[in-house]
Amino acid sequence: MTETTSMPEGGPLPGKSCGSCMLCCKLLAIAELNKPEGTWCKHAKPGQGCSIYADRPGECRKFHCGYLSSELSEEWHPVKSKIVLSANSAGGITAIVDPGRPDAWREAPFYLQLKAWAGELLPQQRYVVVRIAKRAIAVLPDHDWDLGIMEPHEPIVMEVAVAPDGSKMYRARRAGTGHAARASAKPTPA
Ligand code: SF4
Ligand code: SF4
Repeated sequence: MTETTSMPEGGPLPGKSCGSCMLCCKLLAIAELNKPEGTWCKHAKPGQGCSIYADRPGECRKFHCGYLSSELSEEWHPVKSKIVLSANSAGGITAIVDPGRPDAWREAPFYLQLKAWAGELLPQQRYVVVRIAKRAIAVLPDHDWDLGIMEPHEPIVMEVAVAPDGSKMYRARRAGTGHAARASAKPTPA
């Protein structure tokens, strides 16, 4: 059974809380702080909280991850999953993965769920992308495409092609590049 593709950007749902999690303070880029993705914010005190909480930037105030703002189950809590889910600019889902656990997204139940979301979203021109610091991997219903190093808001283009056997296959590439990204050399588990 798969969970909803809905990835609202509202506040926490009743019963949901960050608890001891501060993973977004590590994984997200914060422009107002000139903080890159994948490294701890200098104001973060893991296990204690934000040292400038009352004066934290607007980006921090506004952000509520997909676990917090949806009905996703507890296994998706970022403190356990090591994945922060966020809506992306295409209306799809970005799974931002802790570089300390770069393969967390390939684990059960996350990988199959990401694939299921990809299958639901692609017909609507929306997509699922995994980010590990600056590296981006497009998750498509058939293959995953390693797009290499990309800026957080760089758009991704999804294309449908016909395989030699006549079946439909999906490709992903960075917008503005003429070439489809190569498939990940490492096969991803089904
Ligand atoms: S990643 Fe989600 S649960 Fe963790 S601190 Fe950020 S908003 Fe809260
Ligand atoms: S300013 Fe505070 S809330 Fe914002 S990223 Fe840094 S530690 Fe987290």
